[in-house]
Amino acid sequence: MATSISPFLLYSDGQGNIFEDTSLYVLGRSGWDAVEVDPEDWIPLPEGGNLYELPGRRGIGMDVLSGEIRLCEKGWAVAAFIPPAHTGFYMAAYETLPDAPTLPLFCYTAAGWHNDVFYVPAIRIEQDIRQECAGFDDIKIQEGLAVSLNAYPNNRLVKHLAENCCLTYHCPAARNYFMGRWECPIPISPACNANCIGCISFQPEEETIVSTQDRLTFKPTAQEVIEYTVPHLQTAPLPIVSFGQGCEGEPLLMWETIREAIIEIRKHTDRGSININTNGSNPKAVEALMKAGLDSIRVSTNSAREDVYTKYYRPNNYTFHDIVQSLKIAGEMGGWTSINYFVFPGMTDSAAELDALRKLIEETNLKMIQWRNFNIDPDWYLGKINVQDTGERYGVRQFMDIIHEEFPDIKYGYFNPPKERMLHFDQDFAH
Ligand code: SF4
Repeated sequence: MATSISPFLLYSDGQGNIFEDTSLYVLGRSGWDAVEVDPEDWIPLPEGGNLYELPGRRGIGMDVLSGEIRLCEKGWAVAAFIPPAHTGFYMAAYETLPDAPTLPLFCYTAAGWHNDVFYVPAIRIEQDIRQECAGFDDIKIQEGLAVSLNAYPNNRLVKHLAENCCLTYHCPAARNYFMGRWECPIPISPACNANCIGCISFQPEEETIVSTQDRLTFKPTAQEVIEYTVPHLQTAPLPIVSFGQGCEGEPLLMWETIREAIIEIRKHTDRGSININTNGSNPKAVEALMKAGLDSIRVSTNSAREDVYTKYYRPNNYTFHDIVQSLKIAGEMGGWTSINYFVFPGMTDSAAELDALRKLIEETNLKMIQWRNFNIDPDWYLGKINVQDTGERYGVRQFMDIIHEEFPDIKYGYFNPPKERMLHFDQDFAH
């Protein structure tokens, strides 16, 4: 529940201890600028959120007495990693000192302190509870691991989901699978045809940051996919099985195997939804998968503008036009179409982006926008895509309002909806 407040700036002593500076109100960041945050935009830091100290960076705040904008010299800047289902409106505002290390691939939302509570400028954009940290039961997960590993002893994919995804990366999708509920992951491709600057499964040697997961090292067979996904679709509540996960490359590079799996899965059950999270690079493959029985597609993008997209994705053998075609074809063939929209305050809510997003929605008849926090070092990102000035901007909340008013049928969320929700989408993006 948003409240009208002006929180104090937070700083860290470099030892992991965080303090409030009551001489400074916290500001937010949009593009390259430190800006005031609308007092209505603050919500308590949701459960599952974390606070980060940002080494080599000084927080920027507003003097509570003079209103002067100045640095906090008491320690390092602090930011929040807000949990899934929430979208941040502003990043943390700070000045980066020379030699400051590049920040790892997390989101850095503004954070402040008020009446003994941490606050962030954000909104709960999704009511689905599938990644609520309080909802994960380690005993049930251990039981599910034992049952699955025993049931599928030779299945490399189940072994990968158990040892890497669930037990090493603590992936919420893998843990939900081993708890026998909701969305089940199907990583399928060890390779990719894009070279995203902030790729979470592969970072080139020359970069100082590391990927948050290691990329899959083998090509699963259709049989390995079918073996554990059919029982999940037949038994789980609100079941979804999703190709395209954070621990792999691009699933469309394996479309023939995916098609074979979908056809076989649908011979066993018509329950649940079969989804693909993809970079949308191959519209022909998408058409073939829709014919085979694919239900929904989510195309990831940092922007609806071709130039901004291309500078970030650095595609090998496809163009922005292909991802538009993939969404268009899937929509025309009755599929549920979403974009996995990496929200970067200052870039996303800019006037240029608004025009481009309107065009994308109209051209593809898009059904849903998943407003995802962009997990990337802001300075590093803007530097890599060579942006000095992000231009006129609306603020992320107002940007969402504008799109909602112009396209009232488009759904907002954070996760792929199950079939049951596609049919009756309880959209409550009213605030
Ligand atoms: S499309 Fe996905 S796997 Fe490929 S480079 Fe981009 S983030 Fe990485």
